[in-house]
Amino acid sequence: MEQTIDYQQFMPHFHTDEELAAIQLQGLKWTVRHAWENCPFYHDRLAQAGVTPDSITSLDDLQRLPFTTTEDLRDGYPFPLRSVPFEKIVRIHASSGTTGKRKVLCYTQKDVDDWIHHFARAFVMAGVTAEDRVQIAVGYGVWTAGIGFQSACEKVGAMALPVGPGNVDMQCQFLVDFQPTVYCCTASMGLLMAEEIHRRNLADKINVRKIIYGSERSSRSMRARISELFGGAELFDIPGLTELCGPGSGIECTDHDCIHYWGDYYILEIVDPDTLQPVPDGKWGEMVVTTLCKEAAPLIRYRTRDISRILPGRCTCGSPLPRHSRIMGRSDDMFKFRGVNIYPSSIDTILSQIPGLGSEYQVHLSRDDKSGRDSMVIWVEREKDTSEERNAAISTEIIEQCKKRLLVTVNVSIVEYGALPRSEKKSQRIFDSRGLNESVI
Ligand code: ZN
Repeated sequence: MEQTIDYQQFMPHFHTDEELAAIQLQGLKWTVRHAWENCPFYHDRLAQAGVTPDSITSLDDLQRLPFTTTEDLRDGYPFPLRSVPFEKIVRIHASSGTTGKRKVLCYTQKDVDDWIHHFARAFVMAGVTAEDRVQIAVGYGVWTAGIGFQSACEKVGAMALPVGPGNVDMQCQFLVDFQPTVYCCTASMGLLMAEEIHRRNLADKINVRKIIYGSERSSRSMRARISELFGGAELFDIPGLTELCGPGSGIECTDHDCIHYWGDYYILEIVDPDTLQPVPDGKWGEMVVTTLCKEAAPLIRYRTRDISRILPGRCTCGSPLPRHSRIMGRSDDMFKFRGVNIYPSSIDTILSQIPGLGSEYQVHLSRDDKSGRDSMVIWVEREKDTSEERNAAISTEIIEQCKKRLLVTVNVSIVEYGALPRSEKKSQRIFDSRGLNESVI
């Protein structure tokens, strides 16, 4: 068959770290000047920090730039960070603000084109070609997900099956009737569908080889279960952020031990979320991004709240693209328990290494009103074939591992397989009722 799409066009045009640094410096200079000249918010912020466009001469100058936060986006509602006249804006998207106003971002045609170009790169890196059929089970509408996946899918010439989220009967029917080879979803939706495929005995009737899932952290055991029940599909974690454009800000490569990110589109820094000082490569911290060519709403040192780390050195796959770890969680999700900072992902990790457990869990934090003492109960499901008699042994193992690795004492409640709720969207796993009964002074 004649190949009409040049997949290489989506791949980066640099080969060395020095070439990447040159692209980044040029983009940084452009972004600071653009923001300074066209966005009163940024002009004020930069001026306060003593930065002018001409003073940016090296990538080290990034450290002199002020941070931008979620609060800045909310304060600037409805068109925060707008740096172009309205006639250049072709679209807005918004993200699901959990509290208060939504975060709204505007896009020029070039912003949309750049996003889809990079999203297409993610598909190409996952090995998606014009011969694939891609069932898209993420949300459409004001969210960036659906339209992003679909536009990028069409860009690489694959066939899009835009089902959207939910509607399990239709999802299953499409999987059987249209034989999609790629399934795009959130991790929760992936697990829900995997179990549905298992329940309906469809694994032999479907043809999904790759699952591209995003917008949510997922444990190793959850990935393994999704893959297995989908008949052995290969999983690709695709991170993203509406503020940056949408999903597709990088992708897990076929060697599956890192996320490659688009260093030619944005600069990634990792900072300590408390001190805001950069941390060395390899150390975990908050991801901070600065865009290099975004027109309508450029980002300068935007604090994403996502926790990851930069992985130094080249990937075994040979790509020159820089890389970070899969996202560990959000700095907002981190909770303090008896003086210890705990990320939900560290609980994921512990549970996924204990045999006999399902992949769903919940953490319930409460406080004894009299003693003021906090307690943590981890609710976890037994695996389908695990007998109830093993409850005590499994509990002991979880308690010991938490003591050893998190330095905290927990209680465990084991429930039967399927007892914890599954959701098509992000599952809530941390329930913190501490302080709810305390009076506000
Ligand atoms: Zn790689």
